[in-house]
Amino acid sequence: MLHSKPKEDLYIHKGMRKQLVQILREKGIKDERVLAAIEAIPRHFFLDTAFEKQSYEDRAFPISAGQTISQPYTVAFQTQLLEIKKFDKVLEIGTGSAYQACVLAELGNTVFTIERQKELYDFTGQFFFLKKYPNIKRFYGDGFEGLPTYAPFDKIIITAAAPYIPPKLVEQLKPGGIMVTPVGDDKGQKMMRITKDREGNVHEEELGSFSFVPMLEGKNK
Ligand code: SAH
Repeated sequence: MLHSKPKEDLYIHKGMRKQLVQILREKGIKDERVLAAIEAIPRHFFLDTAFEKQSYEDRAFPISAGQTISQPYTVAFQTQLLEIKKFDKVLEIGTGSAYQACVLAELGNTVFTIERQKELYDFTGQFFFLKKYPNIKRFYGDGFEGLPTYAPFDKIIITAAAPYIPPKLVEQLKPGGIMVTPVGDDKGQKMMRITKDREGNVHEEELGSFSFVPMLEGKNK
């Protein structure tokens, strides 16, 4: 399998990543740790060799099973909203290419990531680059259920458009925790940040319009 063979990270790629980070700065990303993680991770490893140049454009890209690797700006924006602290326990819904999971792992988190598409789950299981991150734990399942066995989580991130804020995930968030998710349908989605205070009260903020593939119920074989 193509994904199981290591690829090279050359000066040209590093140069393109520096430019990408500059674009993200101009678009308003301020968290230096997030920018450093994006500069460190070879995004071209996550795409087919034919699309190497496009790997460092600030846009989403199709991967297998009709899914996408999120736009770098979106990855940076969601990660910044999580206010990550080293050693946070983070739950991600929608592993996809595992790019977002690697950004979180690079920040020193333990990442629990769930994917509902068996094909994508198996694909990332073969991915040579993930050997670098033993702090990423992958699961095949339905993100609406979360991972009750490993709950509660400091942070939760959904990388597909949720039709509503999944109540089981709010339950699995620690007091003091933050959850970030796009909410809406194919006509439009708003980025929502949900914070749970020390008393367990939940607060919601709306932070701009985005476009994600839908979060779907159940697993897909
Ligand atoms: N974080 C990914 C983005 C992938 S796109 C990346 O960095 O590449 C969103 C992913 O969410 C898709 O792979 C899709 O299959 C998955 N998904 C959608 N609904 C889901 C659900 N209920 N549970 C788990 N994954 C889901």
